[in-house]
Amino acid sequence: MITVTFAGCGDAFGSGGRFQACLHLRPGAGQTPVLLDCGATSLTALRQAGLDPGEIGAVFVSHLHGDHFGGLPFLILDGQFSGRTAPLVIVGPPGTGPRLTAAMECLFPGSPRVRRRFEVTVMELPPGGTRTVAGVTARAWEASHPSGAPALILRLAAAGTVIAYTGDTAWTPAITEASRDADLLIAEAYYWDKAVPHHLRYADLTEHEITARRVVLTHMSADMLARPARHETARDGLAITV
Ligand SMILES: [Zn+2]
Ligand SMILES: [Zn+2]
Repeated sequence: MITVTFAGCGDAFGSGGRFQACLHLRPGAGQTPVLLDCGATSLTALRQAGLDPGEIGAVFVSHLHGDHFGGLPFLILDGQFSGRTAPLVIVGPPGTGPRLTAAMECLFPGSPRVRRRFEVTVMELPPGGTRTVAGVTARAWEASHPSGAPALILRLAAAGTVIAYTGDTAWTPAITEASRDADLLIAEAYYWDKAVPHHLRYADLTEHEITARRVVLTHMSADMLARPARHETARDGLAITV
């Protein structure tokens, strides 16, 4: 069983007053929690949800857009200033290491070279690859979403539970494959049926085969938030156990 807290479930632009992508997964009581994406607003989102950023053992990053990885410099600096000693592992698409260093240098000059009391390790996860960190095994498929590096659709397995996550992507059959018979699919539903490049519409999800046992919608625009979806919709702070 995994407890998933949607600390942030919004799009990049604060639609509906929601925080950017920040999904907190705790595989069982007392286990080290991990994050699925860490948008720029994540530190605030975690604190709002009453979750301790210092506990997070790993961050799985779907792709290198600011609303999905832009919170990492803040998470790392928060660990530095709060005396964190536990290691932090970032798992992301090829190119995550240099992009994270560049983001840190841009936002807090000199910060990538500061000595810390905890180790930050970046592990690349290419499409087709698998990585196991903090008791969570992640498999990746390539998403259709240009972000300066391959974007990933993820399938995470931990504590006997499987959770799939679309990240941001135009429809691709990889979504069906990555979420096959999963306990939960966390799916982008950016617009209802309006064709927008590089993103999922709710219509894409209802028109294609999805065998996941439960689907929760995230990353919704203001247009989508006003629509009557048949599937569950996330809201910031929502916690579910799957
Ligand atoms: Zn996004
Ligand atoms: Zn994106």
